Amino acid sequence: MSPEPASRATLAYHELCLWHDTSAGAGPGEVDAWIEPGAPGEGPAARRRLKSLLDASGVTRRLGALTVEEAPRECLLAVHDGHYLEHVAAIARAGGGTVGHNAPIGRRGFEIAALAAGVVCAAVDSVCGPGPARAFALPRPAGHHASRDTGMGNCVFNNIAVAVEHARAHFDVARCAVVDWDVHHGNGTEAIFYEDGDVLTISLHQDDWYPRRSGSPAARGEGPGRLANLNVPLPAGCGDGAYLAALEELVVPALDRHRPELVIVACGLDASAMDPFGRMLVTAAGFRAMTAVLVGAAEAICGGRLIVALEGGYSPLYVPFCGLAAVEALAGVRTGVADPYAARYEGEFQALQPHQRSALNQLIDLLN
Ligand SMILES: [Zn+2]
Repeated sequence: MSPEPASRATLAYHELCLWHDTSAGAGPGEVDAWIEPGAPGEGPAARRRLKSLLDASGVTRRLGALTVEEAPRECLLAVHDGHYLEHVAAIARAGGGTVGHNAPIGRRGFEIAALAAGVVCAAVDSVCGPGPARAFALPRPAGHHASRDTGMGNCVFNNIAVAVEHARAHFDVARCAVVDWDVHHGNGTEAIFYEDGDVLTISLHQDDWYPRRSGSPAARGEGPGRLANLNVPLPAGCGDGAYLAALEELVVPALDRHRPELVIVACGLDASAMDPFGRMLVTAAGFRAMTAVLVGAAEAICGGRLIVALEGGYSPLYVPFCGLAAVEALAGVRTGVADPYAARYEGEFQALQPHQRSALNQLIDLLN
C-alpha cells in the first residue's frame, strides 16, 4: 500500500457536545398549543452524522483528534458578562431551560457550552502552537448569535469570539479575522467586536433572514472598530457561483487589507441546498471550493493559519457531505466519498446569475 499523504489539519471535537439538550425547544419545532409536540428545531442528528462520516471515511484517523477541555473561565469572561455566565449556570442547575431568546439548554448546559467554546480553543492551541496550520472544529451548540450578555438562536456562548480572546491572551496573535458564511447573520460576533479594530468580522448571509433587520452593509463598526465589520447580505437563492464571487471579490480583498494573523471561518452549513432554515443552494462542491479560497487566502496572508469552525447546519442528509467536503479541502485530503445529491443540485443554475451579479456590484460599490 502506498502511504497516505500527510494531513495539513487536525480535528477538534468532543462527544458531550452532541449531548447538548435542546428539548426545552427552539425554533419552528418548539412546542406550541396547536402543534403536536415533537423534535426540537435543532438536534444532534446533523452533526452526529457528519462526525460518523468523518470516522467512517477515515478522515478522523488521518487528521488526528485534539484533546478538548472546557474553555478557560477567563476566556469566557473576556467575551461574556459574569452575570450572564451565572445565569446560564443557574438555568442548568435548575434542570434546563432557555437562556436568552431561543437558546435552550439542559441540566449539563453550562458544561457543554463551555466545552463547545473549548473545542474552538483547542483548535487555536493547535494552529497557533505546535500543530499543523489548519484545524476543523466541530462544536455544539453553535455560537455566532450569542452576544456579551445573552444567548440567542441556539447559541449559548460565542465559541469563536472566546477562541479569538484565547488566541490573543495566550499566543503571539494581535489581529484576527472571522469570516462567517452561516446563512444567518453573525450578529453576536459583530456586536462583541463592533468597536475592536483588531478583529475583522465579516458575515455573508441571506438578506434580512435571521435575525430580522440585522446584517445591513451600513453597519461598519464604531470607534476604533470603524470599517472592521463587513456585512454581505445576499439574495435568497444564491448558490456556489454567488458565494464564490462574494468571497473572491469582497472577502479576500478585505482580509488582505486587514492582515490578520489568524483567520477563523464561522462555517455554517445552513446555506446548503437542503437546509430547512435557509433558502440558499450551496452544494458540497461549493463548500469545498469556498474552503479552498480561504485556504489560499490564509496561505498568502497569515502563514496558512486557518480554523474552520462549525456554526449552524440543520439538514441531517446534507450536512455530513458538505462538512466532509470542507474538511477535505482544509486538510488537503480526498476520501473518494461522492456527494450523493450532486446530480440534483449541481448545474447551470449554480453559476452567478445576473440579479446576483448586480446585487454584488452594489455591495462592492457600497463597501469599498
Ligand atoms: Zn445559521
